[in-house]
Amino acid sequence: MDEFQLIEKIKQKTYKQSALIKGIGDDAAVIRESTDDIVIAKDTFVEGIHFNEKTMAPDHVGYRIVAANISDLAAMGAIPLFYLVSIVIPNHYENNYVLSIYDGMKDIASIYNMDLIGGDTVSGNELVITVTVMGKVAKNKARYRHTAQLNDIVFVTGKLGDSAAGLHLLLNDKNVENDHYFINRHQMPQPRVQFVQGLQEIETVTLNDVSDGIASESHEIAKASDKSIVLLDYNIPIHNSLKQFSSEQQTKWKYFGGEDFEIIGTVPRSDWPLVQQCAVNEKIKVTEIGYVTELKDYFVYIKDKNIKPLRNKGYTHLK
Ligand code: ADP
Ligand code: MG
Repeated sequence: MDEFQLIEKIKQKTYKQSALIKGIGDDAAVIRESTDDIVIAKDTFVEGIHFNEKTMAPDHVGYRIVAANISDLAAMGAIPLFYLVSIVIPNHYENNYVLSIYDGMKDIASIYNMDLIGGDTVSGNELVITVTVMGKVAKNKARYRHTAQLNDIVFVTGKLGDSAAGLHLLLNDKNVENDHYFINRHQMPQPRVQFVQGLQEIETVTLNDVSDGIASESHEIAKASDKSIVLLDYNIPIHNSLKQFSSEQQTKWKYFGGEDFEIIGTVPRSDWPLVQQCAVNEKIKVTEIGYVTELKDYFVYIKDKNIKPLRNKGYTHLK
């Protein structure tokens, strides 16, 4: 299968988004959008760094990278519209492996009526996939990290640490209670697009998605907003089955594990009931995990018996 045969195979027969004027097949795609703000994000997945044969089948690879991108759109308050895929394929890769990656992408993209509108195909030494997503949000309604206000409450959706636990089980060939749940959370995360859409009537809500762990994400919010955040250790939501792991593992995974693609945010307490109602509507969990304050010296603190600084760890490339 050469480059052109691949493009022919992955090209959609029809497109869903009415803003699209020209999809795959020319030098570039063309869209027309006159009223909304456009939101763009990109994520790269490298074999051996983000996944390997042990942790993900090819359709998971595709699903996971598009999910991560959609999660960034969700954290901006945007609705997903389009995606583009740049792929570096080693020569020894089977056609079906590559096509399965695209199947996984299509699986999650179709949930959101997203169209694949372009990309680039090259051969190289290792499998590298870069996905660019585009979404839209009503004018001036994008959600940012820098808007946290004093006394806001800090909340998070879902449960934390699952994806890291799933990765641990995959890498160590472990079978434990509810292992499929954890593995599925690692391979097929669910971005919180609808939940964030439900928050529209709230004037100011500060959002970030949990890709590197809440320690890192809450640092980003605190730093961008020039405030500090206190996280209440006893309120951090974890799955009951996570408690079968050592307390070191639980702590590591819930604060620094990442890739859960939940949403962490802050809102004034007066808006908290609205946030809770959105979670009820979407049948997901949302938990108050802390508050925004002004302490000296550190951006994020953790409170169990005492208050102490939480280090800003999480996975950092190029360290
Ligand atoms: P050009 O040489 O003009 O850059 P290409 O031959 O690379 O164009 O691509 C032709 C069309 O196929 C373009 O619309 C491009 O966006 C799309 N395309 C190429 N590779 C991919 C890919 N891996 N996934 C999705 N679309 C692709
Ligand atoms: Mg061209």
